[in-house]
Amino acid sequence: MRGFALAATLVLACTAHETRAEWFEDTQAIMGTRVHAELWHDDPAVARRLLEAVMTEMRRIDHTYSTHREDSELSALNRAAPHGWVEVSAEMIDLLSRSRRMSELSGGAFDVTYASVGRYYDYRAGRRPDDETVRKAVEAIDYRHVEIDADGRRVRYRHPAVYVDLGGIAKGYAVDRAIGLLQSAAITHAAVSAGGDSRILGDRFGEPWTVGVRDPRHEGQVSVLLPLVDTAVSTSGDYERYFDEDGVRYHHIIDPDTGRSARSSWSVTIVGPDATLTDGLSTSVFVLGPERGMALIDRLPGVDAIIIDSDGKLHYSADLQPLAEPAR
Ligand code: ADP
Ligand code: MG
Repeated sequence: MRGFALAATLVLACTAHETRAEWFEDTQAIMGTRVHAELWHDDPAVARRLLEAVMTEMRRIDHTYSTHREDSELSALNRAAPHGWVEVSAEMIDLLSRSRRMSELSGGAFDVTYASVGRYYDYRAGRRPDDETVRKAVEAIDYRHVEIDADGRRVRYRHPAVYVDLGGIAKGYAVDRAIGLLQSAAITHAAVSAGGDSRILGDRFGEPWTVGVRDPRHEGQVSVLLPLVDTAVSTSGDYERYFDEDGVRYHHIIDPDTGRSARSSWSVTIVGPDATLTDGLSTSVFVLGPERGMALIDRLPGVDAIIIDSDGKLHYSADLQPLAEPAR
């Protein structure tokens, strides 16, 4: 599991409490990653029902926004929107609008039309587009090509080769939806993660949760431990989906300016109020690199970052420095 070291410490909570409540958890493979949810409850039947509701919601989001499924709403949009207006769901408008705001905030480093080029990479098969394909398709990368008519609930693409993928924000959004669902069921202690995107509700009875930032070059090792309460945390890394060819790493975070993998970081961890934000920002800061990325984080109140640059050096935003412990 990436950047996360929660499970081993949870047993402690049971002995600390005199009630019959306990931790319940579930892990499933959804959205091409490992989805994990755990919560504290005194009724096993209710706890299991809530965990099932979380997984059902995660699956719904995957089915709606996956570009790997021909029958998803996003795939239908990608097929039709280059030809004219397409009616979409209110949720699609919301996600595209949030993505657009992230693009504006990051000066275009975050851009869901990255996939106009990104679609030609197949990391599992070790396949990448040739220079000519990149050169042509990179013209289609521009979030302003996606025209959103929020009142009319419709979307069109202004360039014929635009292809949208919401992979830079969908997992964080799914985590937030899951947490929202638990909050409306009055759950006060829980954690939900989807791959590198996590959100924590409450603490572990007086103790913070401990979240580990994975060492980007040594699998199974952790670079930093973060004690966290009531927050979201996302990590983007170049070790998640990639292949190496002639000493060059081709990975899944694409610089919209070049259509090629972003090169100035190994991993970026963002801590902030919600997972949609931290997910979008981790991808953005990864593309921006340590200097411009940290400048962006410093402008955002309540948001922190740990950047591991392409020399393996750690950069902390001001508020995190005294909190973080180097892992031994
Ligand atoms: P993951 O949790 O899948 O590792 P990240 O938060 O690290 O996700 O974001 C990487 C994903 O974001 C990619 O798999 C791709 O779907 C999408 N993506 C890649 N480059 C960009 C970009 N420049 N802007 C927005 N989304 C991107
Ligand atoms: Mg992200």
